[in-house]
Formats: sequence, structure tokens, C-alpha cells
Amino acid sequence: MMNYKNKKLIVEPDGNGLYGIYGGEAENPELRSAMNKIRDAFHNIIKDVKFHDEMIELKRFYIGRPSPLYFAKRLSEHAGGAKIFLKREDLNHTGAHKINHCIGEVLLAKKMGKKKVLAETGAGQHGVALATVCALMGIECEIHMGQVDIEKEKPNVNKMKVLGCNVIPVTAGSATLKEAVDSAFNSYVTDLKNNFYAIGSVVGPAPFPEIVQYFQSIVGQEAKQQFSELTNTLPSAVVACVGGGSNSMGIFNSFLSDHEVQLIGVEPSGKGLQTDKHAATLTKGKFGSLHGFKCLYLQDENGNPSDTYSIASGLDYPGVGPQHCYLRDIGRVEYHTITDDECLDAFFSLSRKEGIIPALESAHAVAWAIKNARKLGNDKSIIVNLSGRGDKDVDFVLSKTAS
Ligand SMILES: *Cc1c(COP(=O)(O)O)cnc(C)c1O
Repeated sequence: MMNYKNKKLIVEPDGNGLYGIYGGEAENPELRSAMNKIRDAFHNIIKDVKFHDEMIELKRFYIGRPSPLYFAKRLSEHAGGAKIFLKREDLNHTGAHKINHCIGEVLLAKKMGKKKVLAETGAGQHGVALATVCALMGIECEIHMGQVDIEKEKPNVNKMKVLGCNVIPVTAGSATLKEAVDSAFNSYVTDLKNNFYAIGSVVGPAPFPEIVQYFQSIVGQEAKQQFSELTNTLPSAVVACVGGGSNSMGIFNSFLSDHEVQLIGVEPSGKGLQTDKHAATLTKGKFGSLHGFKCLYLQDENGNPSDTYSIASGLDYPGVGPQHCYLRDIGRVEYHTITDDECLDAFFSLSRKEGIIPALESAHAVAWAIKNARKLGNDKSIIVNLSGRGDKDVDFVLSKTAS
């Protein structure tokens, strides 16, 4: 194992898009060539002053950045130990962190002269963020979504429609996220020249994990500076939930070389790790290739991706970004799990102690902080990345708990 301690740690891919043994390039030559063009365009654009000026303006006046770093005093008292700070990504336009990378990806697509942006969506969060940015930038948007999810997630489907996005229902197989990925991808490859595939997390073949990490890293940059302005120190721990891994990579990125800062990724153990109803990829996954990249993923006995489960649909994915697999292997980030019940407790604690209703995804990170604050001690502090707001989850939570 690499000895990284007390060294500057930068997590970026090698020439083959690999992070250690994870990640990698698309296998199909035509696709790889399309991805290489995206990578080159990305590397050029991030050196361009005009692009930066545009991003700065959009972040400030459109997303509403910087998002506040808020000291949750009553939640901290409730937890009875370390001070808990919240990085308020829930206050962004569209209510979550996903807008950060959607803005970057769509701006890149526009600069490359693309005509259409495509993606899949599960619960519709990525679809809505992408449709929003496509409306803003005047580019066609096509979102593929399983018929089962369409029926479950009406408000998000309707938002996408209002925003002028073409929502394509997918009825094949189980008619959920997995089939939506295949369908969106098949549509994408019909016109590689004019289409741009906008991936919703630090997953997929190179260069997408790198691109999404880059655009999410604003979260950690702001959090580190804001914490330092408030306290003149570094936090003891930084905590974020991990689905595909974008909000967590975004906030971890600025703290990787600060080895005294404990970095914690929180996965959903759902109804329990001993059951098959969880999505704890980094805890229980095995090495393999999924959706065009190498990572740890939850597999059945034949090596196929397992059916995963989480109360938070944004965390319900069998794989995870290659950076996280690498950071787990070298021991820089610890990955822990939180059950549905612990998540629901945290959802209500934050709502009732602070008047902040968190997304069920984010409530996993909040739950870890509440659970570990006492152990860490009064003189310590935790930053929780509050990746999104819980408006979307309120009806569901009440239907679960009102019995
Ligand atoms: C999509 C989503 C997530 C999970 O995605 P990551 O790529 O792991 O960040 C977490 N929180 C919210 C609010 C989401 O919408």
C-alpha cells in the first residue's frame, strides 16, 4: 500500500483514466474517441479565463453560492459532544448539490458545439437539475426514466416537462434506473457528434469522474475557507453521504492533504447489512466492471449487479465512483453505514432542532454526526455536507412514520 501520510494527496486519474486499479476508459473504440474529445475540451476549457468568469457569475447569481456554513447549535446540544456545522447545499437553486456539476457539464457541452444533452434519471433529481440548466442555456434536453420511477416521482417528472425537457419513458425489464441508463446510452451513441451525455455523479468511464469531481470541488473550497474564517482552525471531521459519490468527493477534495481531518463517507445499510436490502457498496462490494468503469460494486453470485435498496433513492446505486474505492484502499477516507431507522431519526432531529428539513440522502450524514458527536468530544467539530433539502421526502416520511 502506498504511503501517503503527511504528503500532499491529490486524487486525479492517470493517463488511462485510472485511480489505482479503479475507473478507466470506455472499451468501445468509437466511444473512447468521443470521450477523449470531451476530456481534451474539458482540460482546455478549465484553463480559459472567460470560462472561469462565466462559472463564477453563474455560481454567484444563479446557484446562489457561496452556500452558508451554518453552526447547528441546537442539534449539537442534542447530540451532546462535538460542534456540528452544516454546509448548506440544500439552499442552492433546485435544492441540492447536483446543480454544481450540471452547470459545468452543460456549459462544456455548449462550448463543444453540442446540440443535445442526454441523461438517465432514477428518482428525477439529476433530471430536474439538468433540465433546469438546459433551459437556462437554451440547449435541448432528453432524459430517460423508467416507467416505474415516472409513476413514483410525478412532481419531478412534471418539473422536467415544465422546463421543456423531453422525458422518455423506459418500459423494458424492471423499468427503473438500470434500464434508463441503457436507453439513454443507446440514444446517445446514435449521434456522438451532436450529443453530450451528462453523467449525474463521479461515475462512468473517463473523463466523467474527473469532470464531476472538478465541478463539485467548490463545496470543499468554500467549506474550508468558511470554517477557517469562523474558527481559525480545521474541522476534526468532514462527513458526507455516498451514493455515486459526487457531493462527498466535492467536500473531501479540499481536505485530502490535511491528514488530521477525519474524512467519513456514509453509505446506506437500509434494513441491515445482514439483509440484501442495502446499498453499502464500499462496505460489501467486490471489484469488477460496471457501466463502463472499474469499481467496487454489489454483486450477486454470478457477478451481476445486485438489486440494491435504500430509503433514500439517491443512494440506491450498486456501484460507486473510482476515487472512493481508491481512497478506501489507501485508508484516507473511512466508510461507515447508517440504517433507514437511524436516517429517519436524524431527519426528524434536524427538522425539529433547527427547522431544516434534510433530504433523506443527506440525513445519513447527519445521523453519523449525531451518533459520533459524543465520542469525538466537546472540543471537536464536524462539518456535515447537507447535500439537499427534504421537500421531496416529506410525504413519504409521514406515510412511513404516521402509523
Ligand atoms: C443524488 C443525491 C445524492 C447522491 O449522489 P452523490 O453523487 O453520492 O452525491 C445525495 N444527496 C442528494 C440530495 C442527492 O440528490
